[in-house]
Amino acid sequence: MYPIRYVEPTDPRLFDWATNVKIAARWCCQECGQLDRGLLCAHHIVPKSVNPAKMYDLSNGQCLCYICHLRKHSGVPQLLILLQFASVLVKSMAPKDYPEMP
Ligand SMILES: [Zn+2]
Repeated sequence: MYPIRYVEPTDPRLFDWATNVKIAARWCCQECGQLDRGLLCAHHIVPKSVNPAKMYDLSNGQCLCYICHLRKHSGVPQLLILLQFASVLVKSMAPKDYPEMP
């Protein structure tokens, strides 16, 4: 599996490519339909390391949310990702300081 490499701000061409991928997808995750723009990213269908010539090719881009993007790169089944996400959420909601037992 290929690791995720997020867009380096030092490469404005890649940043523009990612923006154009999201615009072409109407700012919607093409796997799950997520519409929150802050959660969306651009995925290289053919990895940059495999074919650098397609790095800025709009047709090589897919608009995905972070969870679907992780799944693309990890190969982990959707249910497992959801369980991991749920466990993080539950932990974040738990009270930080439990009261002393009497
Ligand atoms: Zn998604």
